[in-house]
Amino acid sequence: MQLRDTTHFTTRFLLPIVVVTGITILALAGFLAWSAQRIDADALAREKLLLERALQEQKSQMYIAQEELAVWDEAVTALDTGDVQWLVDNLGVYAFDFYGHNRSFVLDSALKPIVAVSDGGQVPAKSSADAIEKLAPFFAHLRSLDAQAAISAYNAGVSDTLPQAIDFTLFEGQPALVAVTPVLSYSGENAPTVGKEGFYISVGLLGDELATYFGDQYRIDQPIFLDAKPQTDASLPILNAQGQTLAWLTWQPEHPGARLVGAAMPALLAALVIGIIIVGLLLRSLRSALFQLQAEREEAHHRAQHDPLTGLGNRALFRGRLGELLQHTPECSPRFAVLELDLDKFKQVNDTLGHQAGDEMLVEVGTRIKSLLRPEDTLIRLGGDEFAIIQPNIADHREPQALAQAIIDALTQPVSLAAGTATIGVSIGIATAPDMARSEADLIRFADDALYRAKNGGRNRYCLYSAAPANEPARVDTQLRDAFAARRASA
Ligand code: GH3
Ligand code: MG
Repeated sequence: MQLRDTTHFTTRFLLPIVVVTGITILALAGFLAWSAQRIDADALAREKLLLERALQEQKSQMYIAQEELAVWDEAVTALDTGDVQWLVDNLGVYAFDFYGHNRSFVLDSALKPIVAVSDGGQVPAKSSADAIEKLAPFFAHLRSLDAQAAISAYNAGVSDTLPQAIDFTLFEGQPALVAVTPVLSYSGENAPTVGKEGFYISVGLLGDELATYFGDQYRIDQPIFLDAKPQTDASLPILNAQGQTLAWLTWQPEHPGARLVGAAMPALLAALVIGIIIVGLLLRSLRSALFQLQAEREEAHHRAQHDPLTGLGNRALFRGRLGELLQHTPECSPRFAVLELDLDKFKQVNDTLGHQAGDEMLVEVGTRIKSLLRPEDTLIRLGGDEFAIIQPNIADHREPQALAQAIIDALTQPVSLAAGTATIGVSIGIATAPDMARSEADLIRFADDALYRAKNGGRNRYCLYSAAPANEPARVDTQLRDAFAARRASA
């Protein structure tokens, strides 16, 4: 019973709750992981966008710087007169100090380097001749017809856009942002002939300095320019106008999602543990409530079928058992017997020794009768001083008669009660089924009738039902007494 209850509780409550709780925890964990990953992916996308804009910003700043320095009357004059020092100070050192341009060059109209400034210091103009030569496409672009037209338009004030060639390229073997613009007159008073302008070159190297600037300015963690593609999603290719990759900008991406989950993890774990404890406690009290309910139900069922004083089965159990037996007993000679008992002179016990003694006597009667029964026999207290026995699996009428005689012998022995010793007797009526009766009502009626006859016949005796007149005295068979004696001896 206990095992069945536990299994029932496990399959009906424990298992579903554990499964639902497990699925909920897994779903929450999955959702958290998914959310953290989404947040991290969004953060990475934002960082990429930010750095793309930062690179774009470098181009814009270079345009502004070049427009400020190359479109200058004095610069045109200095170029014309060969005032190298002026050009070094104003287009070289100044560009490094204010704009951080790593290299600045001024070329005459024949593309010959006149001025070279490296990291704020003048260097021999020829030192970078090779690197400058590699910028041929830049010059070709600015000498193209379209560019010449644009320069004319700019000179004439028709266009605000300074013709410029700007791109990411390798300069002296390093990735760099290189911009070239013609040196033009701001006032237009000393504008050089179109196609005969000198050039101003600005170079911003894509190195650690710029990377550090990006880190500080845009709050990017450890940005760095690399030659080869790094094994991380947190990287941007540096492409030239032809779409060729010159270098990679990479950094340590932020993981706000993972950080959030990490920060919330102790609280989540605590909530999980508390949740599990609460569910566990609820399950425990549910389990004990269920078991208590079950025990109460069983007790109520037992109470409904048993006599509280003697603990024997009651009339309800008697009827139930009878019904069962009648249903399952085949139609052939005696299969089971019903013995109805009524104590003789029981009232006297109550009257002389008190009701308590009467109760004690009833319990003792139950005990004595039980000691004579087989395990498959059922002893019932019908009420008052009336008892009944259902004796299944009998071969003939002699068996219930032997039992009845044994009971009479046992119950006529004096009983020692708390209030004194008392002696009673018992009268027994016997009917068998299915030979005598096939219905419960007939069986009970016949047993009653037999009991009545036993009482009438002088008490302290048994009577087997027969259709003979009720006043015929019952007879105690000496053979049966012997049978009983043999039975007791073997017990
Ligand atoms: P008879 O020989 O004719 O059977 O008479 P009796 O004295 O045995 O009395 P009877 O069978 O007519 O009535 C049974 C009595 O048992 C009536 C009642 O006072 C008493 N009685 C019924 N229930 C209980 C009980 O639970 N406890 C006690 N102590 N007495 C009970
Ligand atoms: Mg009686």
